[in-house]
Amino acid sequence: MIRPTPVGGTCAYCAHEIDVHVMHLVIEKPLPAGYVTCPQPACMCWATWGINPHRRKEVADMLRDAVLAKLDADGYPIPESVR
Ligand SMILES: [Zn+2]
Ligand SMILES: [Zn+2]
Repeated sequence: MIRPTPVGGTCAYCAHEIDVHVMHLVIEKPLPAGYVTCPQPACMCWATWGINPHRRKEVADMLRDAVLAKLDADGYPIPESVR
């Protein structure tokens, strides 16, 4: 899971300002995680995020999988590029 820088600057994916991106919370356990979208018109920016205090890859992967599984269960249209 790659995560845009949370404060200031531009998004690593779409180069729009990171501050305008919207962070959607999907799960709260075992750690808060969700997905982020860019509200700019026609921008397809989409990424998962998660609270990962020790920046462990297995935690990042687990949260990403949990977010995608929950979105799938909810019928959310996950972008093909993320699968
Ligand atoms: Zn964007
Ligand atoms: Zn973006």
